[in-house]
Amino acid sequence: MPGTELPHSSGRRPTGAGRTAVVTGASSGIGAATAARLAAEGFDVVVAARRMDRLTALAEEIGGRAMSVDLTDPASVEAFAAALDRVDVLVNNAGGAFAANRVDAADLDSWARTYEVNVLGTVRLTKALLPALRASGAGDVLFVSSTAALASYEGGASYTSAKHGVHTLAETLRLELVDQPVRITLVAPGMVRTEEFSLTRFGGDRERADAVYAGVPEPLVAEDVADAIVWMATRPAHVNIDLLVVKPRVQAAPHKVHRER
Ligand code: NDP
Repeated sequence: MPGTELPHSSGRRPTGAGRTAVVTGASSGIGAATAARLAAEGFDVVVAARRMDRLTALAEEIGGRAMSVDLTDPASVEAFAAALDRVDVLVNNAGGAFAANRVDAADLDSWARTYEVNVLGTVRLTKALLPALRASGAGDVLFVSSTAALASYEGGASYTSAKHGVHTLAETLRLELVDQPVRITLVAPGMVRTEEFSLTRFGGDRERADAVYAGVPEPLVAEDVADAIVWMATRPAHVNIDLLVVKPRVQAAPHKVHRER
């Protein structure tokens, strides 16, 4: 309509220059790959987890900063947050599965452990860093959940329910922060072949861990998820990618995986 100014995108792409990104679970897998990609985009990257030897090696390689944090320990999270003077991007990636029992054989300790890191640890750190994220003027909180947050499968309840919890957490936060300059985004990967995820789930049993990927021609790798995360974090600040589901082509659903025998 003549005389009507339509809003248009500024086209501004928030690259990493001058911005700080914190990546949890950066001592392995998806977190380490994401940290490397964010550093390549120019972010000042803080790599966080418990194993300092791995973090230090990664930080040296990518030019980031290694900081230890145990998300299940309130004092550790408090000290971690207090040591940061600026945070623009928080990638809540640390997490995992610790069992594959049916509910009738549920191990409650393992349920508690799963919730401690995936849900409570994520809330704890997000809450601690929200003041800095707000102060950045264009904060980003990315949650690495899972397709386990979108569907249930037998033997998966401790993990699927924790990841469902992460989705609800993120969605609630998005509602609560609608008037503030912080976007809340979720990435839900399907099968990703990382070094430790399945080994952790099966208590170090290599045979069971390898069976997860047996015959799968091309599962995702950590870099595929890192690529999605970096794309989400570098959209113009007014663009919110609420949820990105990323699966290997051969995985049509958590249960439906094509395997070549
Ligand atoms: P990994 O097992 O390789 O990495 C898990 C990371 O979490 C490690 O760096 C570990 O570091 C960190 N971590 C665990 N406990 C704590 C804690 N208490 N405090 C701080 N850090 C902790 O897993 P992936 O890279 O495969 O997975 C990363 C994320 O993606 C997880 O949330 C996982 O649930 C999710 N995901 C994975 C999929 C897959 O198929 N691999 C699919 C979908 C989602 P450290 O031990 O040094 O503390």
